Amino acid sequence: MQQFWDYIIVGQGIAGTVLAHTFRQAGLKVMVIDEAQPCNCSLAAVGLCNPITGRRHALTWKAEELFPAAKFFYQNLEKTLGIKFFKETTLFRPFHSIQAQNEFMTQASRKGTDEWIDYQADTATSQGIKPNFSGWTVRPVFQLDSEILLHSYRAHLTNEGCFRAEKLDIDALEVRQDGVMYKELSAKKMIFCEGFKATQNPYWAWLPIGAVKGEWLAIHSPELQLPYIYKNQFFIVPWGDATQHTFRVGSTYGWQPTDDLPTAEAYEALLQFAKSQLEVPFEVIGRGVGLRPTTPDRRPLVGWHPQFQTLGLFNGLGTKGFSLAPYFANKLYENAEKKRSLDVEVDPVRFWNHQQP
Ligand SMILES: Cc1cc2nc3c(=O)[nH]c(=O)nc-3n(C[C@H](O)[C@H](O)[C@H](O)COP(=O)(O)OP(=O)(O)OC[C@H]3O[C@@H](n4cnc5c(N)ncnc54)[C@H](O)[C@@H]3O)c2cc1C
Repeated sequence: MQQFWDYIIVGQGIAGTVLAHTFRQAGLKVMVIDEAQPCNCSLAAVGLCNPITGRRHALTWKAEELFPAAKFFYQNLEKTLGIKFFKETTLFRPFHSIQAQNEFMTQASRKGTDEWIDYQADTATSQGIKPNFSGWTVRPVFQLDSEILLHSYRAHLTNEGCFRAEKLDIDALEVRQDGVMYKELSAKKMIFCEGFKATQNPYWAWLPIGAVKGEWLAIHSPELQLPYIYKNQFFIVPWGDATQHTFRVGSTYGWQPTDDLPTAEAYEALLQFAKSQLEVPFEVIGRGVGLRPTTPDRRPLVGWHPQFQTLGLFNGLGTKGFSLAPYFANKLYENAEKKRSLDVEVDPVRFWNHQQP
């Protein structure tokens, strides 16, 4: 029997999860289809939202809008699901030299401290990290447990009868002016949140979506006391229940990967990093890998197909999926349901003309 939905969302990584919840919160009927592989990019993620990055300690793109939206969204979702996966924490970065410290002081005093963010020179208070230069802290930084978030939301959708575990069969999709039909499902629109796999989707093959491979190690170290996220060349992030003494070390950047398999080079780089930073024993207990979906201009892809207006896209979240998703899911919802305009900077159409002969 034919089922009628407002939207069908393809993909349940962070993009599809946040988009589905945004639309459902607005009272819309949403079906989510995901092939339910044991791993996707979002499950591989360390789940950080860090508003200040780079050597110049600059606020990230749209940080003032993204971060309040992310906090509001994830805390609300925690309430809906009745579980904890979000926390506000501190990030500590050691200076690499006295010169770096002096530069920071100049920049920090020039920018001042924002109302919602505090960054200042500080000394390390961890036990187990080798003595370093002093450093600087950023607070708040958000940390999300991606496994708890994604698995709980999938269970929630399944309970509500809104989740199908299957790979979308693109040949079974009928795209019409007034909607889409897929097997026994019909909807006003279908929105693709397929991450890097969108490159295999014929409707989006014209987009220059690339991949950056990211890898991490899980370590166990009972003597390491880390009251914050430590960032040097890589991150060391307290992970899971504190009594388990586990940490994630990551993440690497592998440009133009030819597969999604873990590599010996990344393993070695992360292991050597951990050895160079820690003065307490540790044991590697796991590892993970994912392909970040990227765009040449480092802006996400949020909008509609230029020829098929019943097909949408939420992709290109790159290295910052967890901070970008709530704000841009709301923008896509407002565009779809309230006809508010979308930011041209994120509209996939920006790449359309490049592809035409
Ligand atoms: C090691 C690592 C660490 C990272 N750390 C951070 C971090 O700290 N903070 C941060 O913000 N970002 C981080 N990122 C980046 C972040 O993970 C990505 O921005 C984000 O996961 C992209 O999410 P997505 O939903 O677009 O894609 P994905 O997570 O890949 O989800 C796509 C989903 O769609 C499904 N799918 C695809 N095609 C189909 C189909 N045809 N039919 C059915 N299902 C389909 C897939 O199975 C998958 O479940 C990290 C990435 C990596 C690899």
